[in-house]
Amino acid sequence: MTEELEQLYRLQKIDTALAEVRRDLEALPDGTQERTALDEAAAELKRRQERLSGRESAQRSKELDLGSTEAKRAQCMEKAYGGVVSNPKELENLQKEIEALGRTKDRLEEETLELLEQIDEDTAAVHEQKARVAECEEASTRVTEHYQSESARLTGLVAELEAEREQVGPQVEERLLKRYDDLRAKNANLAVVEVMDGVCSGCNMKVPSAKLKRLSDTGGEIFCDNCKRFLYLLQ
Ligand SMILES: [Zn+2]
Repeated sequence: MTEELEQLYRLQKIDTALAEVRRDLEALPDGTQERTALDEAAAELKRRQERLSGRESAQRSKELDLGSTEAKRAQCMEKAYGGVVSNPKELENLQKEIEALGRTKDRLEEETLELLEQIDEDTAAVHEQKARVAECEEASTRVTEHYQSESARLTGLVAELEAEREQVGPQVEERLLKRYDDLRAKNANLAVVEVMDGVCSGCNMKVPSAKLKRLSDTGGEIFCDNCKRFLYLLQ
């Protein structure tokens, strides 16, 4: 095996590793998806909180209405039955008003009850959404932290491999290096392939035995007849 082929083989290992690390780096989830989910969950929480506070204030105003209706009704009753009014017409009007106020009171009480039920539901919905927001926050932090540490690690690895490549590259004759790079460009980053059990691992074709013998005797620039890659005999 010639020294040059050994270097090319080393170079191929570096380039394969580089491509793999770069692919991993690109595929690394950066937390965008989780942040979007968090934003959506937070927006939904805001909607639910607004709905709850809207109903709470509606309920407070209903209670105020109810209070004043009750007070007014009590006043009318006191006036009607306190012996102050003797005019039958006036008494009749007062009784009608008492009845009308009674109906208003009943309606307000019913509406207040309905609102209280809705407030219970809204409160539960807010609690539920708060838990969802907390989950999303946790996931977003976890993914972002993983992205930061993992991307730092992979970027460091790329730098290491690039430095190694810069060291090995110049040790190979320029002509060979050019052929290697051309082959790599055309063949999915793979220019030097191992021969295992007499088969080219680049294209899975059998390597003729004469070529195999030459490969094991002298090594050097021997290419696969089929895929044209540099053949490297694994010892
Ligand atoms: Zn081949």
